[in-house]
Amino acid sequence: MGQTKRKRHIVVIGAGAAGLMAACAASDCGAAVTVLEKNEKAGKKIYITGKGRCNLTNACDLQEFWNHIVSNPKFLYSAVYGFDQQQMMRFLEDNGCPVKTERGDRVFPVSDHASDVTKALLYHLRNRNVEIRYHCPVKRILTAGEEKTFRVTGVETRTGERIEADAVILATGGRSYPSTGSEGDGYRMGKELGIGVIQPAPSLVPVLTSEAWCARLQGLSLKNVELTLLRPQEETGRKKKKPLFTGFGEMLFTHFGISGPLVLTASCYMDFDSHPEGYFMRLNLKPALTEEQLAARIRREIDAAPLKKMATVIRTLFPQRLAEEISSMSGIGERTASSINDKEIDKLCELIRNVPIHASGTRGFQEAIVTRGGLDVKAFDPSTMECKNVKGLYAAGEVLDVDAHTGGFNLQIAWSTGHLAGESAAEEAGI
Ligand SMILES: Cc1cc2nc3c(=O)[nH]c(=O)nc-3n(C[C@H](O)[C@H](O)[C@H](O)COP(=O)(O)OP(=O)(O)OC[C@H]3O[C@@H](n4cnc5c(N)ncnc54)[C@H](O)[C@@H]3O)c2cc1C
Repeated sequence: MGQTKRKRHIVVIGAGAAGLMAACAASDCGAAVTVLEKNEKAGKKIYITGKGRCNLTNACDLQEFWNHIVSNPKFLYSAVYGFDQQQMMRFLEDNGCPVKTERGDRVFPVSDHASDVTKALLYHLRNRNVEIRYHCPVKRILTAGEEKTFRVTGVETRTGERIEADAVILATGGRSYPSTGSEGDGYRMGKELGIGVIQPAPSLVPVLTSEAWCARLQGLSLKNVELTLLRPQEETGRKKKKPLFTGFGEMLFTHFGISGPLVLTASCYMDFDSHPEGYFMRLNLKPALTEEQLAARIRREIDAAPLKKMATVIRTLFPQRLAEEISSMSGIGERTASSINDKEIDKLCELIRNVPIHASGTRGFQEAIVTRGGLDVKAFDPSTMECKNVKGLYAAGEVLDVDAHTGGFNLQIAWSTGHLAGESAAEEAGI
C-alpha cells in the first residue's frame, strides 16, 4: 500500500473577511486548515458592515476600481486580478448567498443581511472540514532558523498552547472598531518578526474642525456640496497645485466638526502624524452654479425682498441656520438686503463657493471604518502575499498597509488578498 501524503497544515489567525476567505482558498487547494479566532464567533466586523447589510464588493470595472484604492494599489494588482469582484459574487452565489447590485455598483446580499455573507463562508469551510477554534487569541508566531531565512513553525496562543503549522496566514485586521476584535495584534506579531509597520491611523473617519460655527450647525446635513482638501501650507494658494482630494456629495455637521460620506472619503487623505498643524478645506455650497449664476441669483433675491435682512434673503438658497452663519461670516450680519453693494455681493459669492474649514484632527479608531497604515507591504511578495524574510508567513486584509474608499472596496481587498494568501500557502508545498 502506498503511503498517504501528509496534508499541509495551515493556521489562519483571525476569522474576519480576509481570514475566512484565506481558509476557503487554502482548503480548496487540499490543505488541512485551522482558523484561530479570539472572539466567540466569526465575522463580527462583517456583521456591522454596510449598516448591517454588508456592501461586500463593488461591481465597477477594474479600471475604475483602482481609483478607489488609497494606499498601495500596485501591491494589490495580482490579488485583485486573481480573484476579482465577479469571482467573489459567484463564490457567494455558489454558497447560498445570492447578491444584488445597487446604486454606485455597490453589491449587497439579496437578503440585506450581512450575516448571510459570513454564513456562506462558514458553509464553504464546513464542507471542507476546516476547524475554527473560537476564544483562541494568538500571542505570537513561532519561527525557526536564522535572521532573513526564518521559517514559520506554528503559533502560540495566549494560554501558552503551541500549534504547529507549515504555513501561517496573519489576518488579524487593523485597529478600527476594536470591539469587533481588531485591536492591532497583528502589528505587534509582525514587528516581533522584524516586519516594518507604517504608523496606523484612523481613516474613513469623522473630522474635527477648529471652527465653532461647525459645531453650532450640529445635526444639519447638506447634499450636493463640493469639498476640496488642500495640501498642507497651501490654504492661500488654491489654484497652485492639484488638491489632495475634491469630492461631491453629502456631509453632516456634528458637535465636534464634520462627518458624512464626503468627509469620510476626504479623511483618507489626511495624515495628522506628518501634519499635526492640520489641513485646510474649502466647501462649495453651490457647486452646480457658476460664480456669475450665483451672483445673479443673489441679486434676484435681493430685488425681490430689499427690506429683509440678508440672512433671511439667502434662506432661499440654504437652510436657515446655515444662512445665518454665512451672513455672519461674510460680515453682512444683520444688515438689510438693499444696503448690500456689488462688491459685497461678490465677496458673498466667493465665500459661498469657498467656505474655509480647518481640519484639526479626526475621531478615534472606535469610529473609523478602516485603519490606514499597517504591515509594510514592502515586506511581502505581492504575487503570493508571503513575507519575504519569513518563509511560510502570509498576510491578508486590513492588517496590511492597504485601504480604500467606501463602496465595497475594503472588503474586496480582504477577499482578494485572503484568496491569494490561502492559495499560495497551500500551493507552496505543491498540494
Ligand atoms: C462600521 C463598519 C462598516 C464597514 N462597512 C464596510 C462595507 O460596507 N464595505 C466594505 O467593503 N468595508 C466595510 N468596512 C471595512 C471592512 O469591514 C474591513 O476592511 C474588513 O472587515 C477587514 O477585514 P479583515 O479580515 O482584514 O479584518 P477584520 O474583519 O477586522 O477581522 C480580523 C479578525 O481577526 C481576529 N483577531 C484579531 N487579533 C487576533 C488574535 N490575536 N488572535 C486571533 N484572532 C484575532 C479578530 O477578532 C477579527 O475577527 C466597514 C468597517 C466598519 C468598522
